[in-house]
Amino acid sequence: MKKIKCAVLGATGVVGQNFLRLLVDHPYFELTAICASEARKGLMLATVKEQIKGGIPESFEDMLFDPIDIDLLLSKGVQVVFSALPSDVAGDIETEAAEKGLKVFSNAGAHRMDENVPILIPELNYKHLDLVKNQNTEGFIVTNANCTTTGLTLSLLPIRQFGIKRLIVASYQAISGAGYPGLSAVDIISNVIPYIKNEEPKLRAECTKICGDFQGSIKPVDWEVYAHCVRVQTIIGHLISVHAEVEQDVDHDAVAAAMQSVESPNILKDLPTAPHPPVVFTEEYDRPQPRYDIELGWPERAKGMAAKIGRLEVEKNTIRYITLSNNLVRGAAGGSVLNAELAAKKGLV
Ligand code: NAP
Repeated sequence: MKKIKCAVLGATGVVGQNFLRLLVDHPYFELTAICASEARKGLMLATVKEQIKGGIPESFEDMLFDPIDIDLLLSKGVQVVFSALPSDVAGDIETEAAEKGLKVFSNAGAHRMDENVPILIPELNYKHLDLVKNQNTEGFIVTNANCTTTGLTLSLLPIRQFGIKRLIVASYQAISGAGYPGLSAVDIISNVIPYIKNEEPKLRAECTKICGDFQGSIKPVDWEVYAHCVRVQTIIGHLISVHAEVEQDVDHDAVAAAMQSVESPNILKDLPTAPHPPVVFTEEYDRPQPRYDIELGWPERAKGMAAKIGRLEVEKNTIRYITLSNNLVRGAAGGSVLNAELAAKKGLV
């Protein structure tokens, strides 16, 4: 397969650097351009401070930053754009890119709730990718969810079959979720902050859209979703406590068996960044923990792509558990790369 030329927008940030790391020797994509803020224009990638281990891969160190100029990207043969721009910057840029024919895979929130833009978590809703055919542009925009929504929805894979009615969740979100440099040390050290701007309504809206039925357009599910989103002083990994009410009484063994046997849809089987299994269940009494469980995912390229579920408690029609996922990989760059791999497999790229 001839490699598809791609660009990373926002390549210096914590998500952007995860893109760089994941694109090293990628079997489908060839990194052809990197962009960040105007001040970086012409600078070499090697001049950038590493935000994550391996975030400035040696093989890309000599690349120079381009300005964000869609025509320039097109002239370089770029077909796919991975966007790790702040939401307020991403909106117009991603629209212009899609209008001019680029296939945009975005982490930003700007277009997530647009009617014809899918929020893709392919293990749950790979069929939603066809929604891009409704976008009246030469290219298209595909988004992935907010990092907390991603972890929550992945953990619903094994319990959706029991008929979810209501979700009550509380998150314990890592500092890196706020980007680099993120929160002031004075605010977060020895502290817990019980508020993350816009996070709770986003989680509700995105979750019901992702799990919605797709028949040419998306009909969101009618679940009640209540959330408290809290920032804690871990570096990577969003932990979520989930209380799910389902339609009928269920027993612990049936739910545990479902959690132990989650499989990806066949269409994802040979995608390089797809984790197998996408959800790992543990009966260990004190897991998952960010310190030990944020790098889950097989094969090697899918490291950080699997979510872990533990602390399962089932009583009558309620299922309670704790789930953990890597906000920078599964909840951001890795999710986008997987979405682009799926689009390539379906011939949309
Ligand atoms: P970040 O660390 O703050 O990085 C932001 C990037 O955008 C940097 O490369 C920055 O370049 C660039 N940028 C900032 N202002 C710009 C402008 N006016 N024009 C062009 N480029 C500009 O943020 P992040 O955490 O990586 O997040 C990136 C996006 O992913 C955001 O939309 C965020 O909401 C979303 N997201 C983040 C996470 C997470 O866990 N962090 C998870 C899911 C989604 P300079 O370095 O040159 O300023």
